[in-house]
Amino acid sequence: MAETNHTTTENAANSIPPLFLLKHIKNKEYWRCIKLVAPSKESKMWTSSDAIGAYCLKCKQKLVYSVQSSKVIARHMEKYHKDILQEGIQKKNDAKSNSVKSFFSKKLELSFHQKMAIR
Ligand SMILES: [Zn+2]
Repeated sequence: MAETNHTTTENAANSIPPLFLLKHIKNKEYWRCIKLVAPSKESKMWTSSDAIGAYCLKCKQKLVYSVQSSKVIARHMEKYHKDILQEGIQKKNDAKSNSVKSFFSKKLELSFHQKMAIR
């Protein structure tokens, strides 16, 4: 929504590896901006054990991923994209109880960065 104007060059687009998304995922909110990196550009039905890494569409960066270390995704989301996670969690909670509305905390991250810049 409040995205800064990134000047995306064509070079940046070229550096995105071939991506795929798993068919059956448990925690969908963890995968909202994460995709797995396919080993080649072939359009096959890749599975998580084929993945040579993961890729975050928001950060535009590769993450180390393997089936054994799939927690990397959760950790990345919790560290950098808490707002996305909370959106997903909130939707889940809405189904149960409809009372939680003051759940957004987007400004937290900004002020954190500002403090870091001052130091
Ligand atoms: Zn990210």
